[in-house]
Amino acid sequence: MRANGFRDAPTSHAGRLAVVDPATGVAFDEAPDQHPDELDAVVERAQAAWRDWRADAATRTAALLAAADAVEAAAADLAPLLTREQGKPVAESYAEVARTAARLRYFAELVPEPQPISDGRPVRGEIRWRPLGTVAAIVPWNFPLQLASAKFAPALAAGNTMVLKPSPYTPLATRLLGSVVAGALPENVLTIVTGREPLGARLASHPGIRHVTFTGSIPTGRAVAESAAASLARVTLELGGNDAAVLLEDVDVERIADRLFWAAFRNCGQVCMAVKRVYAPARLYSRVVEALAHRAKTAVVGAGLDPGSQLGPLNNGPQLARIERYTAQALADGARAAAGGHRLDLSGYFFAPTVLAGVPPDSPVVTQEQFGPVLPVLPYDRVDEAVEAANGTGFGLGGSVWGTDLERAEAVADRLECGTAWINHHAELSLAQPFAGIKESGVGVAGGPWGLYGNLRPFVVHRREEA
Ligand code: NAD
Repeated sequence: MRANGFRDAPTSHAGRLAVVDPATGVAFDEAPDQHPDELDAVVERAQAAWRDWRADAATRTAALLAAADAVEAAAADLAPLLTREQGKPVAESYAEVARTAARLRYFAELVPEPQPISDGRPVRGEIRWRPLGTVAAIVPWNFPLQLASAKFAPALAAGNTMVLKPSPYTPLATRLLGSVVAGALPENVLTIVTGREPLGARLASHPGIRHVTFTGSIPTGRAVAESAAASLARVTLELGGNDAAVLLEDVDVERIADRLFWAAFRNCGQVCMAVKRVYAPARLYSRVVEALAHRAKTAVVGAGLDPGSQLGPLNNGPQLARIERYTAQALADGARAAAGGHRLDLSGYFFAPTVLAGVPPDSPVVTQEQFGPVLPVLPYDRVDEAVEAANGTGFGLGGSVWGTDLERAEAVADRLECGTAWINHHAELSLAQPFAGIKESGVGVAGGPWGLYGNLRPFVVHRREEA
């Protein structure tokens, strides 16, 4: 296996980054804490690698397909390591590795074709899609491999080279993924850098970077946009969400309860497009609360490496503290914990799956993104009120509507102000769809052909029909 750029990058000024197992709260390994000054050499090597990588689409397709095979072959190494540093149940880590390989295959075969331009005049034109150069990606800790591949698969397929920075909480599986993928690519086409801030800020403002593609929280997204303004690099931001699920009068509560519960609690609620608020008709309110609370009380919580666990710990201490703070505030505001409401008496960052009833609509657990295993359920009288509440935040990532009359559900879904609306499910994405949050949830479009074109620039050639 070829060493990736990060392997031989000098780390002499830098210390090491301790990586904590969230199931125990104890550090179990470390990664390089790279100094931002190292970025100059890393970007220079990535720019040099671009000259050949940009040249031939067929070579890129073959290399990315080989990378997908290599990722699949390394699943038994990648998945347990991902669980160890991220916390999620190991079956979900295997699924994440599989999605990483699938995304590589999808983009490997998505080759942009030249497009003719004609407006009826004798001058004709053609758009030839060109890569941007060396691009940067910065990703969070909730789906480290899946989100890394969501960045590098379209960027590399488009003919760019990439420098990618994972979260300091989850550097290890991404470093391993980087070296597995790099084994199928020319050297320095994909480089992983790891370390604490200001490494990300310096990467986003580096003059050699032509596109900064970021996934993370809204405040950091703002900081990244400011950093990238220094070089006027293109910016794509996939940011936080506060998705509402609106249940309609004709919903079959028992039938949907499992699906709704897992749409909120999968990955311990640490999903940008998880259900983060439920609006239930007043007539069904107590049944909905009880159905969700029953599932919260019976879900098996434990270390992700234990094959029986359905829910792991939160990823890190600050995230656990945030969940405790939001829950305590909601309870102080008059909410009732129908399930959970407290930390679990285990080592590590475990919080009991929590369903909150009677939460005031202005409590932070409703108005902000909790990003953890705590779900507020709110009653409504008229569906217009529920739609207004669903749309009434600065977020606009996703939303869903649940009911048996599909036409009616579709009509309500159509009124949600967000990038993706689901009916009777939530948070499932197709590789071929555009993924774009609105309002403060994002800038630019990822996913599908739009994700590929987000990594390309149009180069237009005009010609007259007569010489
Ligand atoms: P975060 O914003 O704290 O960190 C994200 C990344 O940015 C990390 O790699 C971090 O090290 C880096 N970073 C921190 N400060 C930086 C700076 N000043 N300049 C450049 N980079 C910097 O987010 P997080 O806590 O790691 O992840 C959780 C957030 O991510 C949630 O808000 C979640 O909704 C969001 N998210 C969004 C999507 C999406 O597709 N919309 C997907 C997953 C997660």
